[in-house]
Amino acid sequence: MKNKKVIWSVVYIFLGLFVMTLGYFTYYLMFRSKEVVNSTYNLRHDVLSKRVIRGDIISADGIILAETIIDEDGEEIRSYPYNDMYAHVVGRVLRGRTGIEEVENITLLTSDSRSSDALYNDLIGVKNPGNNVVSTLNHKLTKAAYDALGDNRGAVVVIEPSTGKILAMVSKPAYNPNDIEKNWDKLSEDNEDESPLLNRASQGLYPPGSTFKIITTLAYMRENPDYKDYSYKCKGSTEYEGMTIRCSNNRVHGNISLKEAFAQSCNSSFATMGSSIPVDSFRSLCESFYFNKALPARVINNPSRFEMRLGDYSVKEAMQTGIGQGRTLITPLHNAMIAATIANGGIMMKPYVIDRVESSGGRLLKGYVPEEATQVMTLSEVDYLKSLMASVVTDGTAKKLNKLDVKVGGKTGTAQQEGYKSHAWFIGFAPINDPKIAISVIVENKGSGSEYAVPIAEKVLDAYFD
Ligand SMILES: [Zn+2]
Repeated sequence: MKNKKVIWSVVYIFLGLFVMTLGYFTYYLMFRSKEVVNSTYNLRHDVLSKRVIRGDIISADGIILAETIIDEDGEEIRSYPYNDMYAHVVGRVLRGRTGIEEVENITLLTSDSRSSDALYNDLIGVKNPGNNVVSTLNHKLTKAAYDALGDNRGAVVVIEPSTGKILAMVSKPAYNPNDIEKNWDKLSEDNEDESPLLNRASQGLYPPGSTFKIITTLAYMRENPDYKDYSYKCKGSTEYEGMTIRCSNNRVHGNISLKEAFAQSCNSSFATMGSSIPVDSFRSLCESFYFNKALPARVINNPSRFEMRLGDYSVKEAMQTGIGQGRTLITPLHNAMIAATIANGGIMMKPYVIDRVESSGGRLLKGYVPEEATQVMTLSEVDYLKSLMASVVTDGTAKKLNKLDVKVGGKTGTAQQEGYKSHAWFIGFAPINDPKIAISVIVENKGSGSEYAVPIAEKVLDAYFD
């Protein structure tokens, strides 16, 4: 009889504990979780950060890009093992959150851990580990891009054309987010040339230079169904009312087809082409490619600009626009998307940098799937543009890439900036018949695209196809 009593009291104790736990959960579900969900963003952030240790940000190939370390004094320190390499895309938490740290802030501060420890921690008020964000970024490619950019100012963006996954996004100069507090005063100084806090890849606006000849060609093709019969006699320059547009190095290209004009990047023929395209159709074509609007991406970006419109342009400006000068401006991310769209058969995918969210134990909580943004070209337009971009590598300004085992298509650009050395551009994709990656490279104030941007693209392509 006595034993039975003991058993019953044990049962009652457990039952009591169970009811308490249940009560706490009911209370939590009814009140505290609502308080968390309904509160404003910053309040939510504060409430969550008292209960959860911020989760990790991880590369697609499993490398930790951001984590929270507890130091000897029990202080939480956000740590970035690769210092400045991912400064812009992964971002920071101090001095204004940016990058993935900002976009996935609440995710990183939410714990979906279901372990028995987590339950116990929650009851006794100990912090649980937050969810981890697995990005689309490839560490090997990012490192290759980071190393290849060297000490230059500029950016590299690599996209998987079929999905829109951003595989690499590097901007220089960068800053070390581990030392942001220490260096804040110097970093936030308004120095226009350096601007280390700016993500040049998605926010830097540059004249596209000759990379824009892809768009000019497409606009010309739509206006002239007989474009395959195009011929032009290049005399090394073309003039209009006192303005002279010269071919690079004053080269006289002579009688050329559209393919030759594209491969050699003949400014005279493209300036003439630019001035022949009706400005309203040129503008609406550009806007179908997301000029003059935010890019469909969960990455902070500045809209590229195509300023010419009916009533606000001149023949001179139309000529300059044909070669990617004038008032036209583009971000490296957007230019990568244009290359990726051609690589993907005319369908532009929404670029994204977050692949999935996992609990600290590795359970999948949310996966992001590729999304189509728009279809901007027909397959036959794509095929023709691809053949032009192939000829840039086999016979034109990006011949250096011809020695790679993989067949590459692309376009160089040398964007002039008054009073400064030109910006060097290259955009392209590979392999040409079944593209796996699209790339955009810009090097600020350095010189020609073939000389300064193509070698960087070569190193990144090498790292991918190695
Ligand atoms: Zn020419």
